[in-house]
Amino acid sequence: MAIDMAKMKAKLQELENGGKSKSDKVWWKPQEGDQEVRLVPTEDGDPFKVFHFHYNLGEGARGGVLCPKRQFGENCPICDFASKLWQEGTDDSKKMAKSLFVRQRFFTPVVIRGEEEAGVRVWGYGKTIYETLLGLVLNPDYGDITDVDSGVDFTLTYTLPKSKGAFPQTNLVPKRKSSALAKNKGAIKEVLEAVPQIDTLFQRKSPADVKSILESFLDPAAGPFPEESSVSSVDEAIKELSA
Ligand SMILES: [Zn+2]
Repeated sequence: MAIDMAKMKAKLQELENGGKSKSDKVWWKPQEGDQEVRLVPTEDGDPFKVFHFHYNLGEGARGGVLCPKRQFGENCPICDFASKLWQEGTDDSKKMAKSLFVRQRFFTPVVIRGEEEAGVRVWGYGKTIYETLLGLVLNPDYGDITDVDSGVDFTLTYTLPKSKGAFPQTNLVPKRKSSALAKNKGAIKEVLEAVPQIDTLFQRKSPADVKSILESFLDPAAGPFPEESSVSSVDEAIKELSA
């Protein structure tokens, strides 16, 4: 298979950026405390993108695995395995099944006030926040909170868990006054043009790839994921090229 030069350039840039790829910088995560957030509209009119992931599959699948079934209508070996575990009906099998069941995760482009120079980033959040945001949009007092001229910023308060095993809390309070997305028409246009294509940020995996991820997770001794080894061989190739 021919080498994709665009990907090679991205890798080189990643090395120059001290290991941070462009896609690392695209993600935004709330910090503890308050932050002022503005949702940025997407071209297709739906800024709330839903993706379906499997988590808890070990170090090699950090960040989750896109579910081929829920996301693309293909077979999913992880879904099948999790249902089988659930049907076994023991406490242990049900516990593991629950940890592997598919989860919905939502993604929206955002600008963080005071950090505008960081550009448009993507915020990933869970169902409760999704329901809150959708509730705001459907509330006639707010309406299109992403409107570039008359939308609203909101204060997001992020509280780290106080006890072990608890979850962080995210609270959203919309501003009373509406505001523009950026200071003038030109700046708004720039922001809109910088909205990342969210669906390109995740790697689609075939049912066969997903099966090997599951197998490696269940039997780590069987060796690293084929994908990891191919990535490191590309890294080696680049080292040789730039040496
Ligand atoms: Zn699945």
